[in-house]
Amino acid sequence: MLIREMPTRECRALIARERLARLGCSRDNQPYIVPIYYIFAESQFFSFSMAGQKIDYMRTNPNVCLEIERFHQNRRWKSVIISGTFTELTQKAERQQAWEILKVYNDWWEQGGFEAISNTEHMQQAPIYFTISINEMTGREATPQ
Ligand SMILES: Cc1cc2nc3c(=O)[nH]c(=O)nc-3n(C[C@H](O)[C@H](O)[C@H](O)COP(=O)(O)OP(=O)(O)OC[C@H]3O[C@@H](n4cnc5c(N)ncnc54)[C@H](O)[C@@H]3O)c2cc1C
Repeated sequence: MLIREMPTRECRALIARERLARLGCSRDNQPYIVPIYYIFAESQFFSFSMAGQKIDYMRTNPNVCLEIERFHQNRRWKSVIISGTFTELTQKAERQQAWEILKVYNDWWEQGGFEAISNTEHMQQAPIYFTISINEMTGREATPQ
């Protein structure tokens, strides 16, 4: 297997095409990873969530990590890792803008995680919109030898 570094333009092409990321955050020396959907727009990641552990963690420590990948046949894969900064969107205009970006895929949360918590107090709360901006980004591609 050959592994090569992906240039930035290839990393950006991958994250623009994909929708699913692993989000890593940490608090009090304890890492936490959850799958989330996102849209990459205006050079940052847009996503949203209900209140819960990942939001608590990111509010305490906005330094986060994203991992996005694409598998192909024959052990081919591409993977991008981003170190980024969480920003919660609290103003009406920016929340509206985030919704306009995210609503294109407006049924994803039902399958992802919101259904599982639909009977809890989470659903009584307004959705939390947030962005993750990119501080560092690396990509690697594996191909069979
Ligand atoms: C394909 C996919 C896409 C998703 N997209 C989104 C999205 O765009 N936005 C979004 O908010 N959520 C999404 N989810 C759900 C997300 O992964 C979390 O389950 C959910 O957001 C709750 O996270 P929380 O930290 O608020 O957990 P809380 O409700 O606060 O619960 C914390 C507890 O639940 C456990 N837990 C939480 N999530 C999971 C999980 N996925 N698997 C196993 N244990 C878990 C934790 O370990 C912890 O013990 C998606 C899930 C999948 C599988």
